[in-house]
Amino acid sequence: MGAGPAGIGVLVAACNSGQLQQLLAQRVTILDQCDKIGAGAIGDYCINSDSHADTLLRCLDGNLGDRCPQLLVHPATLALCAYRGHAAPLPIVADFITALARAVQKIAAQANQPIQTGVEAHDAMRNRAGGWTIRARRNADGAEIELATRHLVVATGAEQSTSQLRTLSVSGQPLWPRYQDKLMLSRAVLNADGLATASQILARSEHPHVAIIGGSHSAMSAARVLLDLPGIEWRRESIAILHRTPLRPMYPSPDLARAEGYHAFGPNDICPKTGRVFPLAGFRSDARELLLRVLGLGKRPREQRIALIDVMRRNGGDIAAILERADIVIAATGYRPRALPLHDRDGRRIKLLAECFGSAAMVDHQSRLLDASAVPIPGVFGIGLSAGFPLEGTHGEPSFRGQANGLALWHSEIGAAIVSSVLDDSADQAAFDLPIAGSGRRPDEIQIS
Ligand SMILES: Cc1cc2nc3c(=O)[nH]c(=O)nc-3n(C[C@H](O)[C@H](O)[C@H](O)COP(=O)(O)OP(=O)(O)OC[C@H]3O[C@@H](n4cnc5c(N)ncnc54)[C@H](O)[C@@H]3O)c2cc1C
Repeated sequence: MGAGPAGIGVLVAACNSGQLQQLLAQRVTILDQCDKIGAGAIGDYCINSDSHADTLLRCLDGNLGDRCPQLLVHPATLALCAYRGHAAPLPIVADFITALARAVQKIAAQANQPIQTGVEAHDAMRNRAGGWTIRARRNADGAEIELATRHLVVATGAEQSTSQLRTLSVSGQPLWPRYQDKLMLSRAVLNADGLATASQILARSEHPHVAIIGGSHSAMSAARVLLDLPGIEWRRESIAILHRTPLRPMYPSPDLARAEGYHAFGPNDICPKTGRVFPLAGFRSDARELLLRVLGLGKRPREQRIALIDVMRRNGGDIAAILERADIVIAATGYRPRALPLHDRDGRRIKLLAECFGSAAMVDHQSRLLDASAVPIPGVFGIGLSAGFPLEGTHGEPSFRGQANGLALWHSEIGAAIVSSVLDDSADQAAFDLPIAGSGRRPDEIQIS
């Protein structure tokens, strides 16, 4: 479900790990509610990637590049190649993933496994055969369709919703309803339309102030796009970033960090494989550069228009004053999975762990979806933004406690591991068939209205 960067990534990973033919032989259906596949939401953001172009291009180094040589010289690939060694604008990344998706789509079509676009999945229900029946609607003609499947990969992305804002509090102070008229989600500010709205609000203020809640990449990216707005006169500490944990820059090595005057790390913050400091928790790309200026590291001119406010060390009065004077309060407190609703055989909703607890992951370390009791749901996998694949102890710095939200891992190890699990399970169930009650056929799709 979902043919965005993560959903497509499963097929990219299958190709590069040499499992694609085997997977396609099992019959694969990819559905997306949009007519365009590949880019998902990543092209909506008017900022640069936090990964280097090289990392995103790495998926072409293996079988996929050999199998689709035209992809290597595709204009979208060449446009991304122009950013090698740097971050790239996300719309350019989106074009590249679209080209990647089309190449994968072609391979799937050659194996008679089309990617179906314009089909919105409503939910999935466990069926008597032990698999899942997905209920969906075809946008073109409104037809309701059902798909029976043994395995389901949920790659429907994540969201920042206004309902999150209603429960958001800073230093014990609820933001809703007091600041509801000036609250914005970070995703809105990182998008051209939302940024234009923010610009209009700030232009009306004699001394504009913004409070950004959260110490995430999105928080620093929001600060950056605001500072770049033409015609806004920012002053010292006009933008306050309210965070709970320290904001850390990634450094290629401990020596480089120390040479720039950064010492706030220990042995557990260094990746044993690459020697990088905070490769996962640390800021990268433009957000990193801005953080380094805010911290005044490495002889950079200090960026004084941004104040980093550690809410754990400030009293409630200070925080209230910052929120009161802000023209806009931006919530950059992360995304939550937009998982497809699942039901058991009796039609009861299977609550996910991620739905029950604010920050809980949707998946375990094998990308299996977890129910409310943290038990894997049979045959259902999840991948993508906020799926919550745990990285601690496997990649990066040992001190890292968080999740993988990067394309490169979905397009390689994480995607490939899902494919292996599906293939192993299918081998165990070689005789598996999915009869739909009363049909006697083995259809993958039944149109019911
Ligand atoms: C501001 C920002 C910057 C980022 N920068 C980077 C970066 O530099 N590098 C990096 O590696 N990652 C980055 N990411 C993380 C991640 O790569 C992107 O968020 C990416 O778009 C996530 O892909 P996805 O497939 O999980 O979700 P999406 O992009 O949202 O795709 C989900 C797909 O599922 C479809 N869908 C949803 N619901 C249904 C349904 N019910 N039925 C059928 N189809 C459905 C949608 O149409 C869409 O195509 C960034 C994320 C954010 C928020």
